Amino acid sequence: MERNGHCLCGAVTFKLTSDPLAVRVCWCRDCQHFAANGTVNAIVPASALEFSGPLAEYTKVADSGNEVTRQFCPQCGTHLFGISSARPQFKVVRTGNFDDPSSITPDTNIWTQSAPSWACIDHSLEQAEQQPLAPQAPSSRPAQ
Ligand SMILES: [Zn+2]
Ligand SMILES: [Zn+2]
Repeated sequence: MERNGHCLCGAVTFKLTSDPLAVRVCWCRDCQHFAANGTVNAIVPASALEFSGPLAEYTKVADSGNEVTRQFCPQCGTHLFGISSARPQFKVVRTGNFDDPSSITPDTNIWTQSAPSWACIDHSLEQAEQQPLAPQAPSSRPAQ
């Protein structure tokens, strides 16, 4: 399934040509700083994401110990994508920027140990207190 999305002002548009490998609600402290809450992230093969428009970047060592680069629209400040130094084959897409955010459903809450006491955590989803293992890219899955 193909999904399209854009930033708040429309300067950056993107297209995702594969289904996400995982969809996670992240409660790490870094996410809380730029979203003022948890973030909802689709982890996708980097090769399946096309975008057009300008992107600004900010790189920081995350609680996981990996260098995470976050990409923003320089015009409206919308946070669009993330890349971890540990997993350059994947990109993280903030799901709120899809034209149809309901087309993507979270499967896991991560970094729940740093969630605020008022966080609305769906206990029917998987939970990880910190960083879970990376999802397997379809091409790197061992033959069944
Ligand atoms: Zn924008
Ligand atoms: Zn996070």
